[in-house]
Amino acid sequence: MTVTGLRVIMLGPPGAGKGTQALRLVEKLKIANISTGEMLRNEIRPGTAIGRKASEFIEKGLLVPDEVVVQIVRDRISRDDCRAGYVLDGFPRTVVQAEALDQVGVEVNHAALISVDEEKLVRRITGRRTCPSCGRVWHVDFDPCADGVHCDVCTDVELIIRKDDCEETVRRRLVEYHAKTVPVAEYYRSKGLLRVVDGNGPIDVVFCRLLEALGFVCESEE
Ligand code: AMP
Repeated sequence: MTVTGLRVIMLGPPGAGKGTQALRLVEKLKIANISTGEMLRNEIRPGTAIGRKASEFIEKGLLVPDEVVVQIVRDRISRDDCRAGYVLDGFPRTVVQAEALDQVGVEVNHAALISVDEEKLVRRITGRRTCPSCGRVWHVDFDPCADGVHCDVCTDVELIIRKDDCEETVRRRLVEYHAKTVPVAEYYRSKGLLRVVDGNGPIDVVFCRLLEALGFVCESEE
């Protein structure tokens, strides 16, 4: 399926499955995936100036300052592959970021809020294992890799536990989410762009709900 120029925002608390669903969506619609968390981690690994600044916040479960994130998103969406459309996974996370997107003239088509029962989130996150190479996220209970150690996609790469996926940090991230990102959902609701998707249940079922919320027909694999 090819869709031209679609711009979708993925909203939701940490652990809601935004990243997983975003990857499915870009694969299906053949549009670009822009994950600010992933881009920041890509700066942290080689220790760039942006990465050093971002890690101070990320490791504490706090949001990275708006000006840092807005700049990397502005640069990223100006690249050629974004002309076909894109999914913004994890951006905007504050109303200031949402306004910055408007200011650069981005017309958002849908803001999809993946909503999950809060008590499930901590377990979902602390069981996550991330591939440092492709960014694919596995889960020890819900979506395990074949041998329990290596990424099934990049076979020889060992999965890691993200530093900010420990319980204490997850709780801080939830507090940040309620204080700063819930107002972003309201921002898009007031513009008639918010699509609330029930994120409880198997990944495939949630993906079907997401497609339908965006106005597509959910069919079994084409
Ligand atoms: P994620 O991979 O989306 O869960 O993001 C991991 C962490 O990166 C978040 O907990 C924040 O500290 C930081 N981060 C990612 N996106 C943003 C954003 N749009 N604004 C501020 N901080 C962000």
